[in-house]
Amino acid sequence: MSRHSAWRAGGVTRFYTEAATLAEAQQLARMAETNRLPLVWLGRGTNVLVRDAGFPGLIVGYRAEGWHLDEQGDTALVRVTAGTAMAGLARHLSAKGWAGLAWAEGLPGTVGGAVVGNAGCYGGEIANLLASAEILVGTTVETWPTQRLAYGYRTSALKVGDGEWGMGDGVSNLQSTIYNLQSVVSPHLVLAATFRLQRSDPAELVAHMAAIAAQRKAKTPVGHSCGSVFRNPPGASAGQLIEAAGLKGRTIGGAMISPVHANYIINTGTATATDILALIEVARAEVARQFALELALEVRII
Ligand SMILES: Cc1cc2nc3c(=O)[nH]c(=O)nc-3n(C[C@H](O)[C@H](O)[C@H](O)COP(=O)(O)OP(=O)(O)OC[C@H]3O[C@@H](n4cnc5c(N)ncnc54)[C@H](O)[C@@H]3O)c2cc1C
Repeated sequence: MSRHSAWRAGGVTRFYTEAATLAEAQQLARMAETNRLPLVWLGRGTNVLVRDAGFPGLIVGYRAEGWHLDEQGDTALVRVTAGTAMAGLARHLSAKGWAGLAWAEGLPGTVGGAVVGNAGCYGGEIANLLASAEILVGTTVETWPTQRLAYGYRTSALKVGDGEWGMGDGVSNLQSTIYNLQSVVSPHLVLAATFRLQRSDPAELVAHMAAIAAQRKAKTPVGHSCGSVFRNPPGASAGQLIEAAGLKGRTIGGAMISPVHANYIINTGTATATDILALIEVARAEVARQFALELALEVRII
């Protein structure tokens, strides 16, 4: 799965395929259910890591793309298929003078991944503009209003595992593995999202996005990563805590806590998932020891 994770690391899955249509996704969901195969839906893998031990099931990248804009005077609803790239969508709509998504300039990944994780940055997040989402539950399509997604900071009702993965010892590893297998047999697939937009000045939106792009470029460490590893604890910054723990630049195998942004772990070329997980554990344990704060994962470990 190193080919399908932005970390460019990860173990083997029993099956990997991609679905380009709802019908293909339904067929794969049916196949997984019939064969009792644990199933994971993926976007572009910018927030996931598969352990080196591998995954004994089916991983499916959802690739259906496209969007339809329904203008209603100074507002609009845009229905976007979940495999669409978030950043490309944001750029396109802003250039046409539709405000709402400019914050997503440069955000890696798909609309589906962003809806699941309540992606956000630069003052915006999915929860603020989502009107509804179309969800494949088993093999049936349901429309969920935003409230049903129970959004919180970088989390939702759809986020499997939700950052709580035991990693310290054999026992918690085993527990998390069992939890993982149980919770991924029938996961819900985000098929599409409908966002609320407001009409605005395209030149202003484009300039705003250019400013965000410059900030992102300055702050983002170079190299393969999955962005922020941990969520910020209430009132604190995970990156600042890891930095204050003296861990910037700490290396295990081919994985390194970024000297630029301590909440990023960079694959310097040869990192395995085990290297990355070991560094995650070092950061978690040191922050807990030095500051009595528990860091929760933002990335999903499979
Ligand atoms: C350099 C870098 C910078 C980043 N900056 C930010 C940032 O500023 N803000 C932020 O919020 N995130 C950031 N991220 C994280 C990442 O961009 C987001 O989490 C993104 O929304 C993930 O999208 P994805 O398609 O890659 O999802 P994936 O990584 O493929 O999946 C993430 C989770 O969503 C699930 N999932 C994905 N698609 C679907 C679907 N269609 N249906 C059901 N489940 C699905 C997966 O099972 C998994 O649990 C950054 C990542 C990188 C690499």
